[in-house]
Amino acid sequence: MITFPKTLLDGYRAFRTQRLPTEQSRYRELFERGQSPEVMVIGCCDSRVSPEVIFDAKPGELFVMRNIANLVPIYAPDGGTHGVSAALEYAVQVLRVKHIVVLGHAQCGGIRAFIDKIAPLSPGDFIGKWMSMFVKPGELVEQRAHETMQEFATRIEKAAVLRSLENLMTFPYISILVERGNLQLHGAYFGVAEGSLFVLDKATKEFRSARESEPMSGGQ
Ligand SMILES: [Zn+2]
Repeated sequence: MITFPKTLLDGYRAFRTQRLPTEQSRYRELFERGQSPEVMVIGCCDSRVSPEVIFDAKPGELFVMRNIANLVPIYAPDGGTHGVSAALEYAVQVLRVKHIVVLGHAQCGGIRAFIDKIAPLSPGDFIGKWMSMFVKPGELVEQRAHETMQEFATRIEKAAVLRSLENLMTFPYISILVERGNLQLHGAYFGVAEGSLFVLDKATKEFRSARESEPMSGGQ
């Protein structure tokens, strides 16, 4: 009896008959010469925020790492097992990506669990421990007066992108490459309902609609 999910088997069939024929030579080439993506995306596990879909990426174009709330911990060479650090090491030191994009999103469950201060989902409280890295010692994350819960959540979702970018710079090999101009760090935010993308303007720390940077059409 086949227990593998039917939706996945159907999806693979569609991939094999529609996408694979147009991508077959690319897959062969990527197999023979190896991958050399220029962009790493650090995104959330959220099933609605797939970087390959949002950026319409082809095989071999994006090196993607996803975790709860798209967080990057502070560099910690303490002998522990660090999944994010391992992915960063591979992307930056082996593949030599040119860009790292931290992609936050609306309605993030990890952020919501964090700001709601709800009871742990399990006695192990892995989400609580994971999200606690977002806060610096002594820092308070609280809803402001006249701020709705949604506004509060959006503010923290965007702050999580900024915090991850800040933490990326604690990795010595990343800060060196950024200072030399060989690596660029970027922030982005995906509005799930509208499918809208906002890109971080590092100077103002504001997220601007990606449409603003689209080339004008119609000869204007
Ligand atoms: Zn999320």
